[in-house]
Amino acid sequence: MRFTIKNGILLPSNTIEDSRPISQIPALPQPPLNQDYHFNGNLQQLLTGKQLLLNDIPFPLNEIQSHYENGYVTYRHGIIYKGKQPACARCGNKDQQWFAYYPCARCGETCLYCRQCIMMGRISGCTPLIGWNGPVPDTIHPEKISQWQGTLSKGQSEASNRVVGAIQENKELLVWAVCGAGKTEVLFAGIEAALAAKKRICIATPRTDVVLELTPRLKAAFPEITVASLYGGSEDRHLYAPLTIATTHQLLRFYHAFDALILDEVDAFPYTVEESLQHAAIQARNPASAMIYLTATPNEKWQRECRSGKRAFTTIPARFHRHPLPVPEFIWCGNWQKRLQKNRMPVNVLRWINERIQANKQALVFFPHISLMETALPILRQFAQTIEAVHAEDPDRKEKVQKMRAKEIPLLLTTTILERGVTFPNIDVAVIGAEDTIFTESALVQIAGRAGRSKDHPKGKITFFHYGKTDEMLKAKRQIIEMNREGLKRGLLDC
Ligand SMILES: [Zn+2]
Ligand SMILES: [Zn+2]
Repeated sequence: MRFTIKNGILLPSNTIEDSRPISQIPALPQPPLNQDYHFNGNLQQLLTGKQLLLNDIPFPLNEIQSHYENGYVTYRHGIIYKGKQPACARCGNKDQQWFAYYPCARCGETCLYCRQCIMMGRISGCTPLIGWNGPVPDTIHPEKISQWQGTLSKGQSEASNRVVGAIQENKELLVWAVCGAGKTEVLFAGIEAALAAKKRICIATPRTDVVLELTPRLKAAFPEITVASLYGGSEDRHLYAPLTIATTHQLLRFYHAFDALILDEVDAFPYTVEESLQHAAIQARNPASAMIYLTATPNEKWQRECRSGKRAFTTIPARFHRHPLPVPEFIWCGNWQKRLQKNRMPVNVLRWINERIQANKQALVFFPHISLMETALPILRQFAQTIEAVHAEDPDRKEKVQKMRAKEIPLLLTTTILERGVTFPNIDVAVIGAEDTIFTESALVQIAGRAGRSKDHPKGKITFFHYGKTDEMLKAKRQIIEMNREGLKRGLLDC
């Protein structure tokens, strides 16, 4: 779309002679707010705290323009130029190779666009990002906001108090909670405090699965609060809600929206690999706001910042059931890949697996790569034909996990796809080839975190079979031992 400036305001027009793509208009005027203007409440609900494309807005352009002229709607550049260097205002992309040109029907020129965030709709040189500048929608909360009936462990309750404090004071806080500590419950008091103070709060997580799992839990805990559940293709897209749960990708549509943002699994794919999502998280926050990071496995830099006092953090070093985390054992298994090429496997690995089958103990067995896992599968089926293997592209992934839960599968081979998010009550865990670079400290701590989850079966054996110990293996083990030591010291463990 092309704009021109007339009487100090932007006018969309493709016909006026001096009209230009919006990125070629350096300063975008913003008309003052006309208090007497009757704004559209639906548009207000849709746009508050957002940055949307025209395509995302189911209202005619002349209505949007009229709100702009009366100061209620803002137009921002989709692509910002610093000199000749373009940057995408939505995802923060500055990398030349992630921009491309195309013949654009909207402005009639060869238009530069951002390829990095194209899955959220195309941002090009003629794209305005549309937001809200008027009053925010009124939210009326019930007297009793939280209906959550559960209780917190001592460790959870200490962390919960810190979360409340950070939200009230608009601070940043890292909650470093071991796998199985029960981190969701730790958020409830903080969410309640935010809502009570009329703050808008969002929980963002990299995985759609987690959004789907958390949504009913939040709705149950806050039954009278509107909860927006956002992921690719979700129906709540246009819903204004004081409490939002979203995939990190969806944050790209928000701008200065949240007074408190909770980022779950900050270490997990794709957040760490996609700078755009970090950019999105920063943009989605109000300038004065709280930021809570949740993780079981902060990266090395963050761990260092915690130790040196540069980062505010709190730990939950013990699980809800008050038993220590099982500590991994390292077993050398020789050049296992070479053996696999000859359709054989190390004897100690075979023994480990056979022992589980004989004892009727379920196990997860991790492999670094799909092809190696698929070579191993027929070899291991000598012990039980019902052994299965699963990976990210497996169309039967959900069914297999379900069968594992129903105890119809004795042993499930897997890639790192099951390193987090899945809970089976009573399993042992093995990693074959723990020396592989795919098994980072964080991945190994998560994998070890699959064992001993339930209070009826708090123990579980974790074995890292390797062809040479790595630093990552040692760091993972050290981290688990440290957490157990701290849990004991703080009186969060029973043994
Ligand atoms: Zn972009
Ligand atoms: Zn264009």
